[in-house]
Amino acid sequence: MATETEYDLIVIGSGPGGQKAALAAAKLGKKVAIVEHGHMVGGVCTNTGTIPSKTLREAVLHLTGMNQRELYGASYRVKEHITPADLHQRTSHVIDREVDVIRNQLMRNHVDLHIGNGSFVDAHTVKVEGVHEAEHRTLTGDFIVIATGTTPRRPDGVDFDQERVLDSDEIVNLDFIPTSMVVVGAGVIGIEYASIFAALGCHVTVVEKRDTMLEFCDPEVVEALRFHLRDSAVTFRFGEEVTDVDVSPSGTLTTLASGKQIAAEAVMYSAGRVGRTDGLDLEAAGLATDDRGRIEVDDHFRTKVEHIYSVGDVIGFPALAATSMDQGRLAAYHAFGEPANDMTALQPIGIYTIPEVSFVGATESELTRDAVPYEFGVSRYRELARGQIAGDSYGMLKLLVSTDDRKLLGVHIFGTAATELVHIGQAVMGCGGTVDYLVDAVPNYPTFSEAYKVAALDVMNKIRAVRIFHDGGTTEEHAAAQSAAAAG
Ligand SMILES: Cc1cc2nc3c(=O)[nH]c(=O)nc-3n(C[C@H](O)[C@H](O)[C@H](O)COP(=O)(O)OP(=O)(O)OC[C@H]3O[C@@H](n4cnc5c(N)ncnc54)[C@H](O)[C@@H]3O)c2cc1C
Repeated sequence: MATETEYDLIVIGSGPGGQKAALAAAKLGKKVAIVEHGHMVGGVCTNTGTIPSKTLREAVLHLTGMNQRELYGASYRVKEHITPADLHQRTSHVIDREVDVIRNQLMRNHVDLHIGNGSFVDAHTVKVEGVHEAEHRTLTGDFIVIATGTTPRRPDGVDFDQERVLDSDEIVNLDFIPTSMVVVGAGVIGIEYASIFAALGCHVTVVEKRDTMLEFCDPEVVEALRFHLRDSAVTFRFGEEVTDVDVSPSGTLTTLASGKQIAAEAVMYSAGRVGRTDGLDLEAAGLATDDRGRIEVDDHFRTKVEHIYSVGDVIGFPALAATSMDQGRLAAYHAFGEPANDMTALQPIGIYTIPEVSFVGATESELTRDAVPYEFGVSRYRELARGQIAGDSYGMLKLLVSTDDRKLLGVHIFGTAATELVHIGQAVMGCGGTVDYLVDAVPNYPTFSEAYKVAALDVMNKIRAVRIFHDGGTTEEHAAAQSAAAAG
């Protein structure tokens, strides 16, 4: 081994969790090292997951002109023949810039970046093995954060050839745009890619062994999404399992347990992810994983070895970039005794399908299950001036409001800017706000944000109809209130 360096904190993995742990500790004046494989600075998030998939989506939306077709007609395109190079150009540009931003942030904050595979020698020592032996070194740390993320789960017996049969980390590098594709798994990643390829004109078949998809979302929103995807030539095979994938130079044949066979140019597997812990020699530090390679932590992201923390996807649910970042920050704060609030329970979910979905708080089924009385209010984008201007007639925003104290309990959005708009609801809910705030607030006009006010008024009309009944209102008052509530 070449050198041995002592640190206050060693972080293994430079994805969102590792980065934020390293930066938080550096801001506290600590001496910090981050260990990362050479080609992956920024993690799965920057190189193969979040950033490339969201950039690909943006490129597809722009080049297909899809969002403008309501205004200019079904044949509208920005570019008629979209090539893989068109798509790669944008994704690699964004990835390069993001990696540069991350490297710069680490450098500015005096975090040492060690390139190579990190593994434990003992509970305070990490060995870094780069490509060349001269680059090997050992680091010692008072504290260590494991933020090594996940890799796609690959079922046995499937021949992943990086050309026609790919996993969700490889799909962004696909070097042709298939005319047909099978997506195995209707989780968030599978459905996002299904919608992106469908927008490119690819006939996508989604095979999912469960009977439904995105069951944690509002069912009305999921129904709207399914309708849209079917309309873009996506076929759903729910309750079906893949038993075999055959590959030939000309294409693939996917066989299902029901006997159906699907011929397609490509197959993408999105069948869950497993913790990336195999190269870490965890035993040397006194640690182990569960059967999906995940590391168990307590509420402060501490493993069972007190000075070793773990954050991000490698600890499991919710496995989002957003949450990983905050876990990293909180782990570093805890290690160095910096006071901090616990992680907030109120976290939005964003699903970057085309069209996109986002929500925060409870769903109607959760409230019904828990016998929480609530009223709902809906705003349809087609009734907003902004919806007309943008050419989004299908979008909708739904508010769920407690009929006990009028607090906002949930916000569910489908359509343009859903993943941005949700934060208005998140802020109101985070401050314990009621629907009255949204009724009284005056939003810019014309905006999609106006949907909050429209939906809030819808809730209030329904609440009023019930109140008039309780107050023993006249027949005319009843009729007027009910008709106002029903009119939406
Ligand atoms: C296709 C896709 C789309 C996604 N979209 C979204 C989204 O829209 N929004 C969202 O919030 N989340 C999204 N996610 C999830 C998000 O990418 C992850 O939650 C996030 O990347 C997890 O961050 P992390 O810190 O756990 O590390 P990761 O980003 O997983 O990075 C871990 C890093 O550790 C490194 N590493 C592993 N082992 C070692 C070792 N032994 N030595 C050195 N380095 C090592 C790896 O090389 C990797 O760079 C998406 C994921 C995928 C796959």
